[in-house]
Amino acid sequence: MANLGNPKNTIEIIQKYHFAFQKRFGQNFLVDSHVLEKIVRAAGVTGEDFVLEIGPGIGTMTQYLAEAARKVCAVEIDRNLIPILEETLGGYDNVEVINEDILKVDVAALAREENGGRPIKVVANLPYYITTPIIMGLFESQVPIDSITVMVQKEVADRMQTGPGSKDYGALSLAVRYYADAYIAANVPPNCFIPRPKVGSAVIRLTRHREPPVKVKDEKLMFRIIRASFNQRRKTLQNGLNNSPELPFSKEKIAGAIEAMGLPPSVRGEALDLEQFARLSDLLGEDL
Ligand code: SAM
Repeated sequence: MANLGNPKNTIEIIQKYHFAFQKRFGQNFLVDSHVLEKIVRAAGVTGEDFVLEIGPGIGTMTQYLAEAARKVCAVEIDRNLIPILEETLGGYDNVEVINEDILKVDVAALAREENGGRPIKVVANLPYYITTPIIMGLFESQVPIDSITVMVQKEVADRMQTGPGSKDYGALSLAVRYYADAYIAANVPPNCFIPRPKVGSAVIRLTRHREPPVKVKDEKLMFRIIRASFNQRRKTLQNGLNNSPELPFSKEKIAGAIEAMGLPPSVRGEALDLEQFARLSDLLGEDL
């Protein structure tokens, strides 16, 4: 099968199957071989690896991954792409395509069955409309992950890497800091895709920490607190936590914990770093 990482071959296969792009699935196909090589290199895929690819599209990156990995499992939601993938990936005996919504796939079971429960690598040119749920879902579930190397909107990549004080700082920045080391492997302009997205993109590699950089008694509680703090950005931390239906704490308890941390009552969530959220979570969770 011809290499799909260029506009000519991509257009040819799309026309052959009368494929119509679906905006709601975030379909922007890569047509630049340098970018594709860079992604696979940044992911550090070797012949031992089991790779999960999210959204293979017409199979462009899947071909590169299949050349490098022991096995690739590619999960694609759009059933109109399945016959195309049968043709473009027909030459590989180490690729499995699953026609499903990635948010409904039991990735932990896949890792158990296909990789003996060892950490897997996730590689994807992500559909941008569900970047955050996909990444948070992979980190928060019990999936053994080695690394996640993904193309995302440039702005989202920036959000993943930033700290307190920046306008981009939020729940995603804190989750990434807690679970992984992040580095941007490439910036990718719109002309590397068909059709061209409106925004710039970046490839980011998130390498999962063996141990999180802070200790917290109840990880789930900490992330509920983090989400509540950023849900109402213009509110004080105290009000944000108090108004959250997800949290059971009284106004007095919240005020007491903020004071015990040496913070002013008017402090906002966006001023706290990961260590402070861990401490706040331990204080609030004390007698739950
Ligand atoms: N990997 C291809 C490439 O790089 O050319 C296509 C990437 S395109 C940005 C995103 C792909 O994810 C599309 O093929 C789209 O149909 C698929 N997709 C969208 N939502 C999905 C979901 N919930 N589960 C699985 N695949 C999804």
